[in-house]
Amino acid sequence: MELPILQQRGAILEALRTHHRLVLEAPTGSGKSTQVPGMMLDGGVVGDGDIWVLQPRRVAARMLARRVAAERGGPVGGEVGFQVRLESAVGQDTRIRYVTEGVLLRRLTVDPKLEGTGAVVLDEFHERHLEADLTLARLAALQNSDRPDLKLVVMSATLEAGALLDYLAPAAHVRAEGRTFPVEIDYLPRRYADDRVWDVAAEAMGRLDPAKVEGDVLVFMPGAFEIRKTLEVLRGTLLARGRALLPLHGELPPREQDAAVLPGDQPRLIVSTNLAETSVTIDGVTLVVDGGLARVAGYDPRRGINTLLTEKISRASADQRAGRAGRTRPGRCLRLWTQEDHARRPEQLAAEVHRLDLSEAVLALKAAGFTDLAAFAWFEAPGPESLQRAEDLLGDLGALDEAGAITETGRAMLAFPLHPRYARLMLEAGQRQCVPSAALLAALAQGRPLFRRRGRGDRRQAELQDDLFGGETRSDFFRLMRAWNWAKARGFDPRAAGKLGLNAAAAREAGAIAAQIARSAERAGLESPENAPPADEADLRRCILAGFSDHLARRLDGGTLRCDLIHGRRATLARESAVRDAPLLVAAEIREVEQRGGEEVDTLLSLATEVEEAWLRELNPHAWHEGETTTFDPHLKRVVAVRERRFRDLVLARETRGEPDPDAAGALLAKMIEAGEIPLRTWDEAVEAWLRRVAFLRAAQPELELPEFHAEDRRGVLEVLTHGEVTAKAVRDKPVLPVLRDWLRPEQRQALDRLAPERVTLPGGRQARVTYPDGGEPYLASRLQDFFGQRESPRILGGTHPLLLHLLAPNQRPLQMTKDLASFWANAYPEIRSELKIRYPKHDWPENPLTAQPPAARKRGK
Ligand code: ADP
Ligand code: MG
Repeated sequence: MELPILQQRGAILEALRTHHRLVLEAPTGSGKSTQVPGMMLDGGVVGDGDIWVLQPRRVAARMLARRVAAERGGPVGGEVGFQVRLESAVGQDTRIRYVTEGVLLRRLTVDPKLEGTGAVVLDEFHERHLEADLTLARLAALQNSDRPDLKLVVMSATLEAGALLDYLAPAAHVRAEGRTFPVEIDYLPRRYADDRVWDVAAEAMGRLDPAKVEGDVLVFMPGAFEIRKTLEVLRGTLLARGRALLPLHGELPPREQDAAVLPGDQPRLIVSTNLAETSVTIDGVTLVVDGGLARVAGYDPRRGINTLLTEKISRASADQRAGRAGRTRPGRCLRLWTQEDHARRPEQLAAEVHRLDLSEAVLALKAAGFTDLAAFAWFEAPGPESLQRAEDLLGDLGALDEAGAITETGRAMLAFPLHPRYARLMLEAGQRQCVPSAALLAALAQGRPLFRRRGRGDRRQAELQDDLFGGETRSDFFRLMRAWNWAKARGFDPRAAGKLGLNAAAAREAGAIAAQIARSAERAGLESPENAPPADEADLRRCILAGFSDHLARRLDGGTLRCDLIHGRRATLARESAVRDAPLLVAAEIREVEQRGGEEVDTLLSLATEVEEAWLRELNPHAWHEGETTTFDPHLKRVVAVRERRFRDLVLARETRGEPDPDAAGALLAKMIEAGEIPLRTWDEAVEAWLRRVAFLRAAQPELELPEFHAEDRRGVLEVLTHGEVTAKAVRDKPVLPVLRDWLRPEQRQALDRLAPERVTLPGGRQARVTYPDGGEPYLASRLQDFFGQRESPRILGGTHPLLLHLLAPNQRPLQMTKDLASFWANAYPEIRSELKIRYPKHDWPENPLTAQPPAARKRGK
C-alpha cells in the first residue's frame, strides 16, 4: 500500500524549486513525517545542507528517527538522527535530524544563521506550540535577511492554511487527499458524574459485542496514571481476551513504545495519550474509544502559576481521534461524553502563545536582538500582560535590566537548555562551587517524579520513606536527593526501589539529565572541580533561592500551613513538606490543584526550601527595604506606625512604633475608603445629588467658575475628610457634605443655593425637592394637588428657567409633565379633573385650582 504523500512527490519537489516556503496539508498517516524529509534530501532540494524536522513531542522525534533510519537502512545517529532536550543521537553524517521544537530555538541563539542547514520542516504545526510559532517567525525573518536560500516547510493534518499562507506569502501550497474510510460515531446517552474515566471506558466497552470488533482497539486517556488504571480495569474483560494490552505514552521506555506501534502477531488493545492522536500512527485500528480528555499545559498570567490540568479536548481533536479508526477500513468511535457536551466544546484550543509562560521565549528573543517584543512579527501576538509577566520574572531573576535589556546574567543563562529559573540556579551554583549537586537538584525537579504517587494503603511505605530519607532537613530537594542517592547506591534496582515507592527508572533518568546539565554547565565555563568537597547545604539553598526568589513565602502562623507570597498572593504549603517549621521559604512548585474531582482549586506550595532573611538582601539589594512606614492594623482597626523589613512587597518582619504621622494616617485611610476597604456611609445619595446640582449650575452659568468634579477628585475630598484621624471608626460616619461645600468659595455656595436650590416652596408651604439628573433637565415631582394656588411653574436660575414638573396622581403615578403650569391649568386641567373626580371621589378637585389650597397644607395648617 503506497503512502498518499508519495503521489505528491513531484508537486512537493517542484514547489520547493520555485518557492522557498511550502505549506503542506495532508491527513494523518499520509506519510508526511516519515517521507517528506527523505524526499527532499533525495530530490536535491537542499544541496549538501541538513534538514531539521521539528516535532512537538519528544517521543515522536525519537520514534520517527528510528523508523526513518530503519527505512533508509541505517542506524539512528547515522544519516538520520534525533535530538531532544537533554538527549541526542546525531553524528558526523547526520543529514535528517528530528528535533523537538526548543532544540532549534536554542540552536538559533548560538548559530543565528543556521549555517549548514538547508531546510527546516515544522511538523504538526496545527498544535501551535509556542516554540513552533516562535520558530516560524524567526525563520521567516531569517529568510528575509541572511538566508534567502533556506527552505521552510510547514506541515499539518489539520491546518487553517489561509492565515499561514498570508503570513508566509509568497508561499507554495500542496494538499494531499488521504484515503479514509467512514467512521461511525457514538456518544454516551447520559452524562456520567464520576471522574473515574477508566471505569466509564470499561463499562462502555463492556456493552460492545467483542465478536464484532475486528482489528485493533485504541483507547485515549489523558495521562500515564489513567492509562494504568484503564489497563487494570480492562484486563479480564471479553474485549481484552486474545488481545495484547499495551500502554503508549511518553514516560515509557522506547522498547515499550515501539511495542505499541509495531504490528504484532496478536490483535492489540492500545491505551494511549494524545500521542496517538496525530503524532504517531497505529495501523489497523478499527475501534477508537475516546475518553475525551487530555493534559493541557496552561499558565495563569495574573498569579504567575503554571498549570498542567486535565481538560476536555476540542471538537477538532475529537475528530482527529475518531479518524484513527478509519485508516484501513470502516471503523467505529465511541465517545465517552454526550452529544450535548460535544456541542458545548470549543472548536479548537487556543494556541499556546496565548496560554503559556513566555519567559524562556522572551529571554531567547531578547538575546537575538529583538528588544521590543510587542513589535516582533508574531504569527499571532500574545497578550501584553503575559509578555509583561515574562519580563517581570526575567527581571526578578536578574536576566533583564531595568530597561528590559538582557544582562550578562541573562546571556549566561542561555547556555542552559533549562527554564530560566533553573538556568539562574545553575549560575549561582557556579559561584558557590556546587555545580554537580545543583545539576542533580535541577534534574530531579524537572524529570519524572521520583516518588510514585501514593495510594491509600501505603502507610507502611510512607514510614519507610520517612525512616530512610526523612529526618531533619531544610529543603524538600534534599529529601529527593537522599532518595536518589539511595537508589543509585543500589544500582537503580527496580525491586529495591519499588518497595520504597521509588521509581527506579525515573531515578536513573534523573542521573542522566543531571549529567547533561553538568555538561552544559561545563561548556558554559562554570567551575566544577573534580575533587570538590560535597556541596554545602546552605550554598545549595542559596542557589534555589536565586532561581525562585519570586516564589518567596512567609508562613502566616505556626498553627496552619497558610503562607503569604510575594505579589500579594496567598497559598498553602503542602502537608508533606519537610520544611513545615520554616518561617521563610521558597517553593519550586506553585500549582493549582484540583480538589474533589475538580470542584475546588487550591494553590499549593511544594518542593519547598527554607531560606534566611540575610540572603535576600545579598541576592537583590534593590528588592530589599527596611524602614518606618504607616500601615493599617486590621486587629486594632486603626492606623499605626511600624518599622518593617520587606522583600519586594512581602513583609518579613514588622514592629509597632506608636502613633503614626497624621498626614500619612489620613492619606492611608482615604486610600482604603477609595478601595472600598473601609465603608463610608456618609457618601450617600444626598452627596451625589449635591454634586449633580453643582454640575448643573456649572454648565448653566460658566461665569461662576464652579469647579469641575472628576472621579480623581474624590481622593482629595476623602483626604480632607480623614485628615487627623487614625481609626476606621472615626471616619466611617464623618459627614462628607460639609467638606464638599467647603470646596466652593462662599459666594459660590450662596449662588448655588440661590440659583440651583435644593428645594422650592410651594403655595401650601411645602418644600419640594428639585431633582437634578446627571446631564439632564432638572425637574420637580409632586402631587398635582400640591400645586393648587400656584399660577406658574416655579423657576430656578434667578427666575429665568421654569422647572419641568412631574404632576402626580394621589397614588404617585404620573399624570402629566409640563414646563408651563399656567397653560396646564387653562387647557389640560378641566378634562383631567373630571376623570380624577371619578377615580378619587374623596379628594377635593376644585374648579378653580388657583384659588384653592393644597390639601396637605390644610391638614398641616390645622
Ligand atoms: P503523517 O506524518 O502524515 O501522519 P507518518 O509519516 O507518520 O504520517 O506515517 C506514515 C505511515 O508510516 C503510517 O501509516 C504508519 O503506518 C507508518 N509508520 C510511521 N512511523 C512508524 C513506526 N515508528 N513504526 C511503524 N510504522 C510507522
Ligand atoms: Mg506526522
